[in-house]
Amino acid sequence: MDESEFVFELRTCRWAERRWPPDGGDRAVLVARQLGTKRRRWDTVVIEVDADAFARRADFGRRRLDGDMLGVVRHAPAEWEWYRDALPDPDYPWRYVRETIHEADEREILKVRKRGNRLEIKRRYEYPDWIRRIVAIENKPDLDASAARDLRPQLERDVALSLADEVWVATNATGETVEPALLESVPVEAGILTFDGHDAAVAWYPRTLDVDAPGTRILERPSGGKYDQSAARFEYVPPEEKAKKRLEIAERAYERGWRTYTRTMRPDCRHFELRREEALVLPYCDAKSCHQTARECSGRCSAFEPEPPAWRQKGWPIEGGPGNASKRLLESRRERYRPGQSASDAE
Ligand code: SF4
Repeated sequence: MDESEFVFELRTCRWAERRWPPDGGDRAVLVARQLGTKRRRWDTVVIEVDADAFARRADFGRRRLDGDMLGVVRHAPAEWEWYRDALPDPDYPWRYVRETIHEADEREILKVRKRGNRLEIKRRYEYPDWIRRIVAIENKPDLDASAARDLRPQLERDVALSLADEVWVATNATGETVEPALLESVPVEAGILTFDGHDAAVAWYPRTLDVDAPGTRILERPSGGKYDQSAARFEYVPPEEKAKKRLEIAERAYERGWRTYTRTMRPDCRHFELRREEALVLPYCDAKSCHQTARECSGRCSAFEPEPPAWRQKGWPIEGGPGNASKRLLESRRERYRPGQSASDAE
């Protein structure tokens, strides 16, 4: 991902947080970036949520609940019960379930007690049904017809699997209308958003995908060359597996949001700055004179220089230097923006 893609992606996230859905209306959303499955990572993920249920999700803490933890807390009974009676048979040994139960106990999201030799559980909170829809956006700032053709197989896979309710491509507006060649190259099921600065318009509305139906995972497809006689390989994905994956993606989005990129960057470098660009705060590298990507701004960066100790003196070690201040700024924005708030509350 180069600089322009990274900045474009953050801009898309910020826009989605303030303006989703694109046709107006009022839907509470949670936005995250770079999430998906082992095989497919989406650039921007918009989770449309039920605001009340979403508020109740906070009972389980800021950390995500992984698949095993979800299996326990979602089936935890209202009254004390032996865990093996209460929970569905796992497709792995029960001892791992016991480990998850103890972890849930430590995180204070499940009541646990021993009765003789038996481990009993009782739910502390009911896990809310907080996810309404999941929208995947592929960011391609420079989407010409050839880039759209390259993107097509990936979008076709998304449509066939139908793990997200909607799939979009976001690109920069180049003129009054979207090139017909581009519209032809992107599958009709995928929507197209065109950005002009910080605002976006819909060039093509997507089709709503059937997330409750079995999906098709395309494993291999013929290249289509003259001598390529091979058949496509694919497998069916049952709706239950899709539902599980969707929940896991939403939980990761809940934990990460989209402003956590400094976690993998080096805000403790003296060249690291945060710069405001309209409503967006972007990382900026003073040494490279650009908005650096998370990949560049890492422990391997040859231009890295630790922030001088003098920066840390004021209030250090409680307050820390500018690096810590940057982290805190992004964290506080993350905390302040909750679905259901107005955009101005979020700032
Ligand atoms: S010099 Fe390297 S580590 Fe420092 S802010 Fe720039 S990209 Fe990040």
